[in-house]
Amino acid sequence: MLIAKKDYEPGDVILTEEPLIYILGSDQRGQRCDSCLKEFDSLEACSGCQFVQYCSKECKGKDCEAHHKYDECKVLKDVMNQGIPYLESVLLLIRVYLTANV
Ligand SMILES: [Zn+2]
Ligand SMILES: [Zn+2]
Repeated sequence: MLIAKKDYEPGDVILTEEPLIYILGSDQRGQRCDSCLKEFDSLEACSGCQFVQYCSKECKGKDCEAHHKYDECKVLKDVMNQGIPYLESVLLLIRVYLTANV
């Protein structure tokens, strides 16, 4: 239970937390970085799966260290080669599975 020690106004931020996992929506793919989610004119695709895209080496490294280096990249590539649709949903499932098992 949380008890406030001061009065808050509507719209005040009282807590921020990083999500356990997140993915980019299909409508934002190619426009935003898969790691920081910020919008960029040019992004670099992962050399392994060619699906996820990053704005910088820093974001690529951060995402790879967090989850993409695990079997995510390989599984995503295999799934893409089989022509399975809804890759964002597949990526989300892979991430949930691998995050729960790491
Ligand atoms: Zn980024
Ligand atoms: Zn990849």
